[in-house]
Amino acid sequence: GQPRFRADQVFSWLHQKHTRCFDEMRNVPKAMREAMAEQGEIRSLELDDVREAKDGTRKLLLRTKDGHRIESVIIPMEDRITQCVSSQVGCKIGCDFCLTGRMKVRKNLSAGEIVDQIYWAQEVMKPNERISNIVYMGMGEPLDNYEQVTNSIRILLDESGQNFSGRRITVSTSGVIPKMVQLGRDVPVNLAISLNATTDATRTRLIPINKVWDIETLLQGLRDFPLAARRRITVEYVMLEGVNDTADDARRLVKMLQGIRCKVNLIPFNPWPGAPYGRPSAENVNRFGKILRDARYTVTVRYSKGDDIGAACGQLDGNADD
Ligand code: SAH
Ligand code: SF4
Repeated sequence: GQPRFRADQVFSWLHQKHTRCFDEMRNVPKAMREAMAEQGEIRSLELDDVREAKDGTRKLLLRTKDGHRIESVIIPMEDRITQCVSSQVGCKIGCDFCLTGRMKVRKNLSAGEIVDQIYWAQEVMKPNERISNIVYMGMGEPLDNYEQVTNSIRILLDESGQNFSGRRITVSTSGVIPKMVQLGRDVPVNLAISLNATTDATRTRLIPINKVWDIETLLQGLRDFPLAARRRITVEYVMLEGVNDTADDARRLVKMLQGIRCKVNLIPFNPWPGAPYGRPSAENVNRFGKILRDARYTVTVRYSKGDDIGAACGQLDGNADD
């Protein structure tokens, strides 16, 4: 029963000023503040612990109100601070090389639980530090939780909230192709796609949904993706020793990506206990990268940070004992 502008006021208290208490919302009438305090809560997550790695990476161990544990990682780089956020508890895609895919519990996070990861990060950082980039590359498949993920992005982009630029937000998908193309129409963010293999046989073994959307469908999805001027798609490629790291794979990749505006991000496998894969040697990674570079692709190698605290890609399982 309140006028619309009250919602805008409350929104900016929550998402811009990070108010932690309804009573601080000074321009909102007292009766409404009290009613909100009775019926609502501000925080979506509890912070259980912060772990710091030798390289400065910090992992936040967070808990949802219904008791699920999730992780969020703060990664300091030379010129920016990137946060890797989780979109789900566990992940039903079940990639063979990913620890999150092995978790038994599965649950979608709400938009509030996604943005609260960022607000908690800002609270544990020094006053002069700020999260500058956000990647949806933590636990879960963002496009398997489409509504809540796009809502969380809209909150982050909102001028009366964080006023984030879509250029500084990247959503990574294992290849939910129809939703991927939809994402490009709905929100102005960057896209990363976990290609991870160059033949359907290998990709299906690694990422079971390749049975539904195979490599050709994926490549067509990338061509159809509404890409803004001067932006490129990030093609992620997890390198698994003896599985997808040969020179032939690199040459096939060169051919496959022709005509797609992209850059390639090689991610040498991050091991976890009991993992059925190994990390290729640096020589192999370099040889693979050189073949792509010689074909004029931009290549970066992601030597994941924070692996001594289980905070690297594919090592997140919400378990505090990592
Ligand atoms: N579900 C999304 C985003 C989270 S995973 C996706 O799959 O894209 C983020 C990236 O980490 C993906 O590219 C994934 O292929 C990669 N990854 C998963 N497990 C890994 C591991 N053990 N070592 C290295 N990279 C891994
Ligand atoms: Fe899920 Fe991504 Fe892990 Fe695959 S790599 S199981 S899609 S989180």
